[in-house]
Amino acid sequence: MKVDFYTSQREYNEKRVQFDNAIQAVVQKGNFILGEPVVEFEKAIQEYTGAKYAIGVASGTDALILASDILGFKNGKEVITSPFTFLASASCIIRHQGKPVFVDIDEDTFSIDVNKIEERVNENTVGILPIHLFNQMADMDKIMDIANRHDLRVLEDAAEAFGMRWKGNESDYRHSGCIGDFGVYSFFPTKTLGGYGDGGMIVTNNDELARLAKSYRVHGAAKKYHYDFIGYNSRLDTLQAAVLSVKLKYIDEAIKKREEVAKLYIERLSECEEIKIPKIKGDQKHVYYVFNVLAQNRDGLAEHLKKNEIGYSIYYPRPLHMQKAFEYLGYKEGDFPVAEKVSKEIIALPIYPEITKEEVEFVCETIKNFYRK
Ligand SMILES: *Cc1c(COP(=O)(O)O)cnc(C)c1O
Repeated sequence: MKVDFYTSQREYNEKRVQFDNAIQAVVQKGNFILGEPVVEFEKAIQEYTGAKYAIGVASGTDALILASDILGFKNGKEVITSPFTFLASASCIIRHQGKPVFVDIDEDTFSIDVNKIEERVNENTVGILPIHLFNQMADMDKIMDIANRHDLRVLEDAAEAFGMRWKGNESDYRHSGCIGDFGVYSFFPTKTLGGYGDGGMIVTNNDELARLAKSYRVHGAAKKYHYDFIGYNSRLDTLQAAVLSVKLKYIDEAIKKREEVAKLYIERLSECEEIKIPKIKGDQKHVYYVFNVLAQNRDGLAEHLKKNEIGYSIYYPRPLHMQKAFEYLGYKEGDFPVAEKVSKEIIALPIYPEITKEEVEFVCETIKNFYRK
């Protein structure tokens, strides 16, 4: 049995008419740049997340770059973040010559170890950039407490965190991305809310920050062809907004299905000694964007999955402090032992709403077979 790590085909086939209609409406109207579907989608995101403002941009990476620029993560200023994340969480700081300062991660959650943040704060520190990774949010109570006491700006990388909520079981919950000064989502196709191409969003509750973000995405123009500063050309495509609006209607259902898939994995793999399943910490509503495990002989297991035509992914095989691009920061191997250990053991298994029970069971059986040998 071949099991894809991810496929958009099944969802498309299920809702083909809705997707086709949404796309055709844009093509017929020709409102390709910041057309009404973008405005409607932004409104729908505000409603879903509770953010006061939602500003559609070209990608999650761009969302991070615009937000970092506006928050002053630049010109030698320091921003504390995790080395165990996708490149874009740190490259956005470096884009304008800011300096990422890494602290190690929590062994159980793979999120930034909040107990190690404060010791890195100095007079040059301007911000904290937490990443809500894989399936859960970083501890936002502790992060906001540190930020408030030291007057730091907080940019939440919620690229993977659509649907996650802090204090998720209470009525006064806060959606991921809506707690710090800015939050960003990515609509990269594999993400929990993924489009048919690149897309991203900036959210904020702050009037002035929203005004700046809106102007930064159109070259720094407050009014057409009147520029207050040099911004970017980074807009959420109208076609993507139309596709994403269809998907957003079914997002709760999709998140629930992911949860069921994760439960099945946990059930089937819990008896497998060689596999360690991550824990969820904190009072939050988690979402399984990715289902990761720590595996003994990870590379051997990966090889075995490949032979059996099972898709997998390794997020992330090399922490950022050990990347050539970041050599100049002066970090070395051994500086962040937890991140380094996890990067050698972690492996992501197929998870998406349309994956079948039989496929998940086949993946689990194949894993168990590998260790039985
Ligand atoms: C996907 C992702 C991004 C970048 O989003 P794009 O839309 O692909 O540019 C940034 N940060 C994290 C943690 C991500 O997973």
